[in-house]
Amino acid sequence: MPKSGRKTTPPSRGPATLPRAARAALRAWYLAHQRALPWRTAPSLYKTVVSEFMLQQTQVATVLPRFARWLEQFPDFAALAAAREEVVVRAWEGLGYYRRARRLHALARALAARPAPPRTPAEWMELPGVGPYTAAAITSIAFGEPIAVVDGNVARVLARLYGDETLYPDGSRAARAFAPAAQTLLDRAHPGDHNQAMMELGATVCTPRTPRCPVCPLARGCVAAAQGNAESLPRFTRVKTTRVMVTRVWIERDGALLLHRRPGEARRLAGICELPDASTVPGIRRAARPLAVKRRGIVNQLITETIYHASLRASAPDPANGGANGLLWVAWEKLPGVTLSGPHRRWIGELREREGAEDAR
Ligand code: SF4
Repeated sequence: MPKSGRKTTPPSRGPATLPRAARAALRAWYLAHQRALPWRTAPSLYKTVVSEFMLQQTQVATVLPRFARWLEQFPDFAALAAAREEVVVRAWEGLGYYRRARRLHALARALAARPAPPRTPAEWMELPGVGPYTAAAITSIAFGEPIAVVDGNVARVLARLYGDETLYPDGSRAARAFAPAAQTLLDRAHPGDHNQAMMELGATVCTPRTPRCPVCPLARGCVAAAQGNAESLPRFTRVKTTRVMVTRVWIERDGALLLHRRPGEARRLAGICELPDASTVPGIRRAARPLAVKRRGIVNQLITETIYHASLRASAPDPANGGANGLLWVAWEKLPGVTLSGPHRRWIGELREREGAEDAR
């Protein structure tokens, strides 16, 4: 039995190549059953690039409404390149991992400065924000480059196809281990369709908990389906979740709400505003009972945020103090133009509505 931390190697069982009939079945299944996603209807290089950036670490359902709005606001690379960075980051709100917005913006500017976009994965990887996965996805879909894509969905399909029981530390290590196998199985005549078919199969049929093997176009060559252990693959080391408690404060003054903008060099949420952590605001008097208790998960952290009403003591200096500490007063009418983290935008909206309803009673 494989052990945790073992060097990941390509699978030794399962198909050495995908037989022509299986490739054809996979593509036929994809053409017949693919979801009608906006980056697939009337596809373009721009739509492919934007969707690949948005879909990194974000679910399709979350991306869909924001993709439509993004295309209205920035219809092409030129429009995106011409926009100011804060406008781009504001438009990214709700997708999380804001570094992707800045990288996509930098990529649009790099492309706008060239006479034509590059066509090979190696050239794309020289551009800002483009790693091996994104380069493979963009060039196979937009230019038919014969290079396989392995994301979490594809790694799951391959782990099951090969009956691979290796214990992987995380999804990215599994994806790396399956890269050679994915390249071997690639339908070189239709690499874009093949890659999208594999991702779609993982997203809709070979799902983590309930794989639907009877309707799968790859069932005939699948080791896990034959063994009946698809649900248990791929195997990952159990990751410890850390619990984090944060106390937030809701302080209003003269029609403005106090927020905290994270520093531009922060590893997470750089430049994004949230309700301030109570410990960062001097001279406050906090209510005894919380306004709300909210929970969210980020990577391996389960964060509980307790929000209290607070007021400034009469002797306290202005906590915003010119903004050097990241604290700032934002007038209610200016709030829509400020980039907030998705959960804080939602919570502030909910709490304000609740406060308004209580005031009206
Ligand atoms: Fe996944 Fe089942 Fe298809 Fe195998 S047969 S690839 S386990 S859905």
